[in-house]
Amino acid sequence: MIDVKNLEKSFGDHFVLKGINEHINKGEKVAVIGPSGSGKSTFLRCLNLLEQPTGGTITFEGVDITDPQNDINKMRTRMGMVFQQFNLFPHLSVKENIKLAPLKLKLMTKAEADKRALELLERVGLPDKADAYPKQLSGGQQQRIAIARALAMNPDVMLFDEPTSALDPEMVGEVLEIMKELADDGMTMVVVTHEMGFARSVATRILFMDEGVIAEQNEPEAFFTNPQNPRLREFLSKVL
Ligand code: ADP
Ligand code: MG
Repeated sequence: MIDVKNLEKSFGDHFVLKGINEHINKGEKVAVIGPSGSGKSTFLRCLNLLEQPTGGTITFEGVDITDPQNDINKMRTRMGMVFQQFNLFPHLSVKENIKLAPLKLKLMTKAEADKRALELLERVGLPDKADAYPKQLSGGQQQRIAIARALAMNPDVMLFDEPTSALDPEMVGEVLEIMKELADDGMTMVVVTHEMGFARSVATRILFMDEGVIAEQNEPEAFFTNPQNPRLREFLSKVL
């Protein structure tokens, strides 16, 4: 589904991604972990060109999205993204937030978008919040709405950048639960996270990023019980 070749990203003379090669198959749930500043967010944001790579190629569903000839906006509709800070539009109701992209891109009629929004609100367990505004919701509820909004376009892959890091501890579980259900439904997911329990129980593969490269990767059991890279060992000794 996603094929990354020699991906590089610099900000000015700051070389952040130093040649990433990665292949993500349909249905995989890939967790990305690693120290702060190692390039996890930059990597995720390059996957849908929120950041423009300075080298390498990214092929998504057979289309080279780094080729300016191709329509990135069209490809982006196939990728949902959820951010640490929710990023809901404060002046729009919950239902309007969810309907915005499909209506703006004329992918659904108003009636279809309404129906889809209500289905998604059921799915994230907030059917009674359709007409509420983001600031009337808890952080956990806002993040569940942000997930619903990302799902509104029926994406083929969902990208999550530390979706629970801004939440009070008692709200982390409700968001992870929605993500787990999405994983169980077969969604392809790439999740930057510090939630090691989630990575261990939900991910099919874990990537360890360190200083702009994928320094180690494995299936969860081996990743946690038999880490090879000394930096990964050190990282795990701090977070487990
Ligand atoms: P992580 O998500 O692993 O904490 P990031 O991908 O956010 O790491 O950042 C990696 C490095 O790139 C950091 O040194 C950060 O300061 C730098 N960086 C990220 N975004 C920008 C930007 N827009 N402009 C300049 N430097 C950036
Ligand atoms: Mg980050």
